[in-house]
Amino acid sequence: MLVDTYGRVATDLRVSLTDRCNLRCTYCMPEEGLQWLAKPDLLTDDEIVRLVDIAVRLLGVEEVRFTGGEPLLRPGLVGIVERVAALRPRPRMSLTTNGIGLRRTATALKAAGLDRVNVSLDTLRADVFKTLTRRDRHQDVLDGLRAAHDAGLTPVKVNTVLMPGLNEDEAPDLLSWAVAHDYELRFIEQMPLDAQHGWKRDRMVTAGDILASLRTRFELTPEGADDRGSAPAERWLVDGGPHRVGVIASVTRPFCAACDRTRLTADGQIRTCLFAREETDLRGALRAGAPDEEIARRWRLAMWGKKAGAGLDDPAFIQPDRPMSAIGG
Ligand code: SAM
Ligand code: SF4
Repeated sequence: MLVDTYGRVATDLRVSLTDRCNLRCTYCMPEEGLQWLAKPDLLTDDEIVRLVDIAVRLLGVEEVRFTGGEPLLRPGLVGIVERVAALRPRPRMSLTTNGIGLRRTATALKAAGLDRVNVSLDTLRADVFKTLTRRDRHQDVLDGLRAAHDAGLTPVKVNTVLMPGLNEDEAPDLLSWAVAHDYELRFIEQMPLDAQHGWKRDRMVTAGDILASLRTRFELTPEGADDRGSAPAERWLVDGGPHRVGVIASVTRPFCAACDRTRLTADGQIRTCLFAREETDLRGALRAGAPDEEIARRWRLAMWGKKAGAGLDDPAFIQPDRPMSAIGG
């Protein structure tokens, strides 16, 4: 098992498949100038499958989420999903994506064994989408969402980040739309993970702001935490249910004490936390011919050193060097 000194057990593995992306969301990437990982530094498909196999067979990982960057840009994605679905014990498998290209791949991903998707969409307005992501692809995301739902990659969850002055007034409209389309909406507080280091605590839209805005139109009944570790959204029933809305208050109500995550970057580094400042290299060991047990030992050792919390509210907090797109969100 992947245990740390605080007794937490990591069973949820986030695998970043690439640091590249076809959008440039302002809270994540700069407009230009981000240095991509060099191809030889990226894990190959075989290396990814081998590490996931070690994680599920030797380390107790039960859930694998593919992310990035934009994971749909990884050419071998469907094959990776298929091979991970064949592992024993078979992990639950989901994908966090911006949805661009999902229209074409949703059916193949479902057939390969993917269970679910989280699609990121911050706005219902095409012009705001263009400002927020710096690309004119709003319709592609809507098409991708529908295709995912039609393909049975359900429940389809929609991840939304609200930004002051851009889409902060859209929470109730987004919820009406999500309910009408049978998508489960989850708001994520903006975190200090942008490549430009432009995040400001006093400017972010908080969970409290989001709930107040939703309550102007909906009756929200607390449903308790949704499995706080692996899906750290606090959830509410919308107008008595059955639809729900989630809020992931990573900044104002951090859930570090219940964290069950371990992360693998696209270049084969283990990160114990999004906000960790250290990484543990598994790629080097892999390429030097280390046996599975040795890789597992290094992974356990990395997790043993996991810090108690991200410390976002600590005045001494220092943002990690890598942006969200390179860590794997
Ligand atoms: N490209 C895919 C996508 O956008 O879903 C996967 C990677 S992205 C880094 C994963 C999630 O992180 C997205 O839902 C995105 O909105 C969220 N995200 C990125 N930067 C963030 C930030 N600074 N604060 C909070 N969430 C962020
Ligand atoms: Fe790309 Fe996702 Fe980052 Fe947006 S949040 S720039 S879609 S990696």
